[in-house]
Amino acid sequence: MLDSLTITDAIDGLSKKEFTAHAIVEACLNKIYKVDKKINAFLWIDDADAIAQADIADKELSIGVTHKEKPLLGIPIAIKDLISVKGHPLRCASKILDKYIAPYDATVIERLRSAGAIIFGRTNMDEFAMGSSTENSAFGTTRNPWDLERTSGGSSGGSAAAVAVDECIAALGSDTGGSIRQPASFCGCVGLKPTYGRVSRYGLVAYASSLDQIGPITKTVQDAALLLKIIAGQDYCDSTCISEPAPDYPAKLTESIKGLRIGIPKEYMIGGLDPDVRNAINQAIKSLENLGGIVEEISLPHTEYAIATYYIIATAEASANLARFDGVRYGLRLDGADPLEMYYNTRGKGFGQEVKRRILLGTYVLSSGYYDAYYLYAQKVRTLIRRDFDNGFEKVDLIAAPTNPTAAFKLGEKSADPLQMYLSDIFTISCNLAGICGISVPCGFTNTTPRLPIGLQLLGKPMDEEKLLRASSCFEQAHEFYKQKPVISEE
Ligand code: GLN
Repeated sequence: MLDSLTITDAIDGLSKKEFTAHAIVEACLNKIYKVDKKINAFLWIDDADAIAQADIADKELSIGVTHKEKPLLGIPIAIKDLISVKGHPLRCASKILDKYIAPYDATVIERLRSAGAIIFGRTNMDEFAMGSSTENSAFGTTRNPWDLERTSGGSSGGSAAAVAVDECIAALGSDTGGSIRQPASFCGCVGLKPTYGRVSRYGLVAYASSLDQIGPITKTVQDAALLLKIIAGQDYCDSTCISEPAPDYPAKLTESIKGLRIGIPKEYMIGGLDPDVRNAINQAIKSLENLGGIVEEISLPHTEYAIATYYIIATAEASANLARFDGVRYGLRLDGADPLEMYYNTRGKGFGQEVKRRILLGTYVLSSGYYDAYYLYAQKVRTLIRRDFDNGFEKVDLIAAPTNPTAAFKLGEKSADPLQMYLSDIFTISCNLAGICGISVPCGFTNTTPRLPIGLQLLGKPMDEEKLLRASSCFEQAHEFYKQKPVISEE
């Protein structure tokens, strides 16, 4: 089945003319028709537009354009609903952006297009990327393909579920506090959060600008390396983008990890860890050791402050970023007797509950009298968290840890209690606060029925994606968990 191809296999088959891009797109569309009513991974797709892009790719292939010139020629990539694609809806899974159509392409989209990729629909997410379960989408939650009663994770739950169930070949997500890595681990995919500044944020709707990064969600590590190579690199439209050109990540994957020093933060192997997760991570650590890694314990002493710090900084930035949705410039406008009432009506009805909660929290921590006690303090603790990693990386090359304390939780299990939801982000948010890079790669399953995927998280120094990818690829090759797929009845 062509929908189950990885990018690497698709490129191979397309260049050998074993199948066409048209056939790949058709297979993915068919999968969407068959299973998406159960999963709800896609918010929107224009079939005709996807087929037309595929036909153009096939034409280029037929006149001799190669994958050397256009590395993603004919590959359908699904896009999270907060990355701007000219002419496509851009709703961030929010009612406030209903009917809003993006006027320009994000830099990552421009780069995908120049590489020949097919821009394939819009995937579901928590509204404005705020959440860990996709339950905050204004357009219904995304279900986990391994167990439909459970969350696909969030906020890039739609992208992860779509990749896991072969509705696309790969996808883009965004990660502010774990939104690529957590859903990837819940759905059994690979999810990479690049170093802050590695990938341009131009055209990404901002949630928390000092934490947000776009990254790939894929079936294999090799695919993540391929996608990152295309989307990474300097961009004059994003001044926080780092000027170093993207290395040839896929070329470096085959080197061994012999002698690589891998740190296990003692603060991450805590009591609340689910026993199946603990077991899988311990096994993964042993396996990294067998592959030549040198494992040692390290300490990240400020880990316990990470959740509080993140939820102050992220909400503060969100409250400022979301001020622009006022009914004047974008999407929804609900009438009022005067402009103020128009704002109230539009924002009151347009934003969901969690987004309002965050705007209120953010406004509070920035308000005079509280700024020093909360926001400024959080910034100082952020520095301490970053220093924890600086110190850790003096001793080790990579850090290994669980991506999440549990496998995918049940829908409704945490949605009534925001604090429980926030606490589940404990292992992913420090990476964003420190600006380093991180990946989640499948490392086993729970012993439950049905079984659920578990993710191993590897964290690397800023701009050291190469090592991160090499170690994950080595691990992936040794176990091939990616070959196991969720089964969904198609009736
Ligand atoms: N779950 C975290 C939050 O709600 C992270 C979300 C994200 O990475 N976009 O803020």
